[in-house]
Amino acid sequence: MNDIVRIEEVSKQFGGIRALNNVSLSVLKGEILGLIGPNGAGKTTLFNILTGLYTPNSGQLWLGERSMLNLKPHQILQLGIARTFQNIRVFPEMTALENVMVGRHARTRAGLLGAVFRNRRTRTEETQIRTRSGELLETVGIARHSHTLAKNLSYGDQRRLEIARALATEPQLLALDEPAAGMNPAERDTLSELIRTLREQFKLTLVVIEHDVKLMMNLCDRIAVLDFGEKIAEGAPAEIRANPRVIQAYLGTEA
Ligand code: ATP
Repeated sequence: MNDIVRIEEVSKQFGGIRALNNVSLSVLKGEILGLIGPNGAGKTTLFNILTGLYTPNSGQLWLGERSMLNLKPHQILQLGIARTFQNIRVFPEMTALENVMVGRHARTRAGLLGAVFRNRRTRTEETQIRTRSGELLETVGIARHSHTLAKNLSYGDQRRLEIARALATEPQLLALDEPAAGMNPAERDTLSELIRTLREQFKLTLVVIEHDVKLMMNLCDRIAVLDFGEKIAEGAPAEIRANPRVIQAYLGTEA
């Protein structure tokens, strides 16, 4: 199978709450995989496990042939899995450009000593980081705000900035947690376009959590549905739309 990540029978419990129960899911290389489900279904918990923030109580997690089970978040980032957060996590007092440069530093060689003594290699690298970061802001459509403090950007632009910072780490898989939250309809339309463009331009695989089902049906190649910590369906958007269990669980019996 052409999978990049395999999640196998993963469970996660918080006290008495079973956030994930025996969930298996493969992410195929180059796809846009959607993760939907009602509030509290376990979507973000799955992202947190995928990116090393949480360790599952049981199950396995593979990146190709490599187990990711006991890796720390920074190790997973270095293996090429980057993410954005449901609650935006930009550095508010830094400019947009500086925010992206921070992400870029995850991929560079000059260490702390280099940063302190600023030798020639460090300076050259710094210039390259600045240039590349500027290009990434251009890619996500906010280059005009390069020198704006992150806290002064609109909500939608902060989400784009988070994407640029994640791209700066040169991921092979990018996980987006509710990228459209807080965006108006016009911004949502351009977001779908952006995500598709990123896939082509960076040869990315994407996993997206989003509550906007219409957006997800148009954007994703495949969709997995979680409900009360269980995966209740997985398939092409048309199959998901017609799945009675999804309709009942996700949209409610009324739908
Ligand atoms: P939403 O769409 O509302 O973001 P979600 O599908 O992402 O929901 P999760 O955030 O993964 O759901 O939460 C799944 C369940 O696990 C919920 O009942 C939540 O309260 C619980 N949970 C998640 N993280 C923690 C934690 N750190 N400590 C305790 N309970 C948690």
